[in-house]
Amino acid sequence: MTFNKVLDNLSIYEAGKPIELVVREYGVNPKDIVKLASNENPYGTSPKVVKALKEKSSSSFVYPDDSMYELKEALAKRFKVNDSNVIIGAGSDQIIEFCIHAKCYKNSKVLMAKTTFAMYEIYAKQTGAQILKTPSDTHNLDEFRKIYKKEGADIIFLCLPNNPMGECLDAKDVYKFLDEVDKNTLVVLDGAYQEYAIYKDGKKKIDVKKVTKKYPNVIYLGTFSKAYALGGLRVGYGIADVKIIKNLYKLRPPFNVTTLSLEGGKVALDDEKFVQKCIKKNFEEMERYEKYSKRNGLTYIPSYTNFITIYTGNKISKEIAQKLLEQGIIVRDMTGYGQNAIRITIGTESQNTKVFKALDKLLMEKK
Ligand SMILES: *Cc1c(COP(=O)(O)O)cnc(C)c1O
Repeated sequence: MTFNKVLDNLSIYEAGKPIELVVREYGVNPKDIVKLASNENPYGTSPKVVKALKEKSSSSFVYPDDSMYELKEALAKRFKVNDSNVIIGAGSDQIIEFCIHAKCYKNSKVLMAKTTFAMYEIYAKQTGAQILKTPSDTHNLDEFRKIYKKEGADIIFLCLPNNPMGECLDAKDVYKFLDEVDKNTLVVLDGAYQEYAIYKDGKKKIDVKKVTKKYPNVIYLGTFSKAYALGGLRVGYGIADVKIIKNLYKLRPPFNVTTLSLEGGKVALDDEKFVQKCIKKNFEEMERYEKYSKRNGLTYIPSYTNFITIYTGNKISKEIAQKLLEQGIIVRDMTGYGQNAIRITIGTESQNTKVFKALDKLLMEKK
């Protein structure tokens, strides 16, 4: 059987390894596994959310509220926009997919940083679109400008802060760039880690209301999978001008977000105290990684997120990641991104201590 030709050039997204696999393959006790590869909130789901989900679970036999009224309302209130500016998806991944399919077909152009969220490229290639990447691994707006001027683009992705590198552009520089982009180019501002960036430095904060009002060609994406600790529920959102939202809606499957996901998102959004507490701890623990790297002469990228990318120097990152895995510590090897580095989600205090101990041994090993 032959398949759509675009599939020939597509690779399958490789997710962080699940706990179950490490138990099966390396015989590690599940409770000893330290999972720091997918940037989840290591402090777990807020107890208020867990309680609400338990109560809601008995309504699972009926289809979800497909208008998603309550969560839309909550998001509209949070970002000071109207319900009609909001679309909710099964993770913000699904909104990325809608954006690509709304704008791209064969030979469309999609512009992004060289080393950024892998799904932009994967969804774009599904349509046969051409991928344009800036030369630098991290976001450099002058490089975006140069390529855009020469080639144009149907979509531009800015990841603010950037996964997997961790850097973040200042909002004022992003606005200046948006001023220069043609209104027929859709610009996606991926804010999956904005909550972290805002805590660390207010200059990184994208004013979603302002962007939505001023730029009819820009969509802001957020997710409940990271700071809001709901990775397992798959819920994310997009905020944009009504015309963008209406067109994305044409691509939406019915009931794309489950009853529990909608409930979880709503209650999580309401428990901001929990989220802020987790973010504060995140940066306290991040400091330990920075100190650890300095002490051991390892280069790292200063991070505005809940992960840190550390170069492994004269050691091969793939081997380090594998040896950590064998001890039950799951991190992300960055070889596939062309970096001799590992990306580690900032865990809890005891998880991070385990990482440092394991790394101590691995870094000392003779080649
Ligand atoms: C995690 C992540 C997302 C989306 O996550 P969902 O779980 O699909 O909401 C989007 N962009 C970036 C950069 C991410 O790291």
